[in-house]
Amino acid sequence: MVEKVVIGGAGGFIGGHFAGEMLRRGHQVRAVDIKPMDEWLQRFPKAENLQLDLRLKDACERATAGMDHVYNLAADMGGMGFIENNKALCMLSVLINTHLLMAARDAGVKRFFYASSACVYAANKQTDPAVTGLQEADAYPAMPEDGYGWEKLFSERMCRHFSEDFGLVTRVARFHNVYGPEGTFDGGREKAPAAICRKVIAAKLANKAEIEIWGDGHQTRSFTYIDDCLHGMDQIMQSSTITFPINLGSAEKVSINQLVDVVEAIAGIKLKRNYNLSAPKGVNGRNSDNTLIQKLLAWEPSTPLRAGMEKTYAWIYDQMAKRN
Ligand code: NAD
Repeated sequence: MVEKVVIGGAGGFIGGHFAGEMLRRGHQVRAVDIKPMDEWLQRFPKAENLQLDLRLKDACERATAGMDHVYNLAADMGGMGFIENNKALCMLSVLINTHLLMAARDAGVKRFFYASSACVYAANKQTDPAVTGLQEADAYPAMPEDGYGWEKLFSERMCRHFSEDFGLVTRVARFHNVYGPEGTFDGGREKAPAAICRKVIAAKLANKAEIEIWGDGHQTRSFTYIDDCLHGMDQIMQSSTITFPINLGSAEKVSINQLVDVVEAIAGIKLKRNYNLSAPKGVNGRNSDNTLIQKLLAWEPSTPLRAGMEKTYAWIYDQMAKRN
């Protein structure tokens, strides 16, 4: 059945990929972003493309009118470098989810998807690089990432209460570090996988033998390839049982040093690592516990880091080589 889908943040990384996926499946797509259209990471002529500021309620009413499904992937965000230095801006994204929820309820949309984050998890559960995976219940008692994480946790709860009080069907996924081609790799909002690709490629193109790494390199994370994220979003949105926030992330935990090893191996070089201990580095250890998603969807993100990073590296290399 053809669905009418509105994607907030469609000019961004995940929204752009998701718009493409929905169009490939034959759905009708309304793509919305605050950025001028020539700055969208991907833009599809087959979609209805709108430049709107979704912090504003009338813009959300325009975006949701006549649609079946709303995907809220819009947020003022970036990697650790951005979120540690822009806490108020991150929190203002609460206006986007609040007004989108109100507009979706009033427009009678069938389902609403909210992109939450592993940054909702409590700080005291992430002090050790040898962390075991974070389970959904580990978000409480609450002490999420300052700014960005608090906004995500609050917006999760607002989705829950819109379901309970107004009967709007909402679905919430906690993304864990999504990466892939067609993403931001410079300018200050990029995340670790793209930033490390860029630094390694820059060293290679300039014949330099060293790179800077934020933190001591021992901090651990898991990284989710974009194709897994798109599949998971679709499954979670369709699910009749996932009525609460659920992890959508790879469980392949690596240290930042291991991530650099992977990129160096792809690039075929070895670089001297200079550790910048005063740069933003986030929590010491974070991984996704996938027990629940396995149980409810009989599936979990499974693209190996090396395979996903090869595609990401190749795309960033092409962009940088073109600029050179
Ligand atoms: P992104 O920055 O590439 O895309 C977000 C888009 O939202 C941008 O294009 C931006 O212009 C748009 N936007 C911001 N303010 C807006 C506004 N007022 N009105 C309309 N559009 C607006 O980020 P992404 O990586 O694609 O992330 C998508 C969602 O997933 C975000 O909610 C993000 O917090 C969440 N998330 C992403 C990751 C990740 O690793 N990429 C991890 C956890 C959660």
